[in-house]
Amino acid sequence: MSIPKMKRILVTGGAGFLGSHLCDRLIDQGHDVICLDNFFTSQKSNVTHLLSEPNFELIRHDITHPLWLEVDEVYNLACPASPIHYQWNPIKTMKCSVLGIINVLGIAKRTQARILHASTSEVYGDPEVHPQPESYRGNVNPIGPRACYDEGKRAAETLCFDYHRRHHMPIKVIRIFNTYGPRMHPYDGRVVSNFIRQALVGEDLTIYGDGSQTRSFCYCDDLVEGMIRMMNTGHDDFIGPVNLGNPDEFTIKELAEMVIEMTGTKSKLIFEPLPADDPTQRQPIIDLAKDKLGWEPKVKLREGLEKTIAYFQDVDFSQFRHPTPPPLT
Ligand code: NAD
Ligand code: UDP
Repeated sequence: MSIPKMKRILVTGGAGFLGSHLCDRLIDQGHDVICLDNFFTSQKSNVTHLLSEPNFELIRHDITHPLWLEVDEVYNLACPASPIHYQWNPIKTMKCSVLGIINVLGIAKRTQARILHASTSEVYGDPEVHPQPESYRGNVNPIGPRACYDEGKRAAETLCFDYHRRHHMPIKVIRIFNTYGPRMHPYDGRVVSNFIRQALVGEDLTIYGDGSQTRSFCYCDDLVEGMIRMMNTGHDDFIGPVNLGNPDEFTIKELAEMVIEMTGTKSKLIFEPLPADDPTQRQPIIDLAKDKLGWEPKVKLREGLEKTIAYFQDVDFSQFRHPTPPPLT
């Protein structure tokens, strides 16, 4: 099937941190973009600048419910992504991954659309193989507090591959490693947004555990470039899964020290208990992405942090809400 140059593209979770940057790029490329979101972990302000674009449409919809659209491509990003957001209502998180992908696979099957699913490095759990290649099957605790997200994402990958085998559908699965940048929710509790917000308001930076756990941080522009390249590979050639992330690995303490130095804050480091099942290390092997997509990240952590700090300096934190704690049972 030949795909027209101007494509009709659905982005689920399109008002979120990554989704909004993706919408920007797709609109810039001249596509007709449908941004779908229920604003659970985002706000309209991420996409209000796009509302006047004739090719941009915004739909408030919860992806756990079916919907009927005619599209050429689907990027499936709808899912709470930070631990405090996805643990807020773990049952809903699992539904979002599983029912969400079933609903968008349904659209893709009926319209023969190509579908890219945003999976995660969390499918590797607390990895015993380091760094992580796509062939590693992971070390996930299926009954822990992170399981609603990790296992939901694993099940969604399974569904993509089953639809591909059964219905020959053009799927694309990417496994995103920690990505940061402007438009992260300031209260999502993720380490980069948390440290920057804490530094800017003069709160102490909260290190969970001793800070020796590692993450590899990718800047959002690099990630979006990788996503679009993956979507645009010929569908029989390469369906993934493919790791997308920056292989430069840092300890959380190193990150905190860098944020303190770059913001010039007087904040100190404080140490709090490590949450259950918090992975001790994470670093992608990106040879497959280099080989198949000609992709590798370009933005170094310091440069990406500069842009992210500059963004947060202009954010009015009072306009954002903390997630409401779940009711005690
Ligand atoms: P985000 O929370 O900013 O974006 C997720 C978006 O999905 C939000 O706009 C939210 O309102 C929306 N959403 C949540 N539940 C929904 C539902 N039921 N129906 C419709 N919309 C819903 O997070 P993000 O970092 O932009 O993540 C985007 C995707 O990338 C997610 O699927 C996430 O799992 C994946 N991912 C992100 C990272 C990262 O480091 N940023 C890493 C791995 C995977
Ligand atoms: N973390 C931390 N302080 C914070 C927020 C997070 O030390 O204020 C740690 C967290 O325990 C984890 C790492 O930073 O080890 C990355 O956490 P994040 O929630 O950003 O992502 P994930 O654990 O899903 O990679």
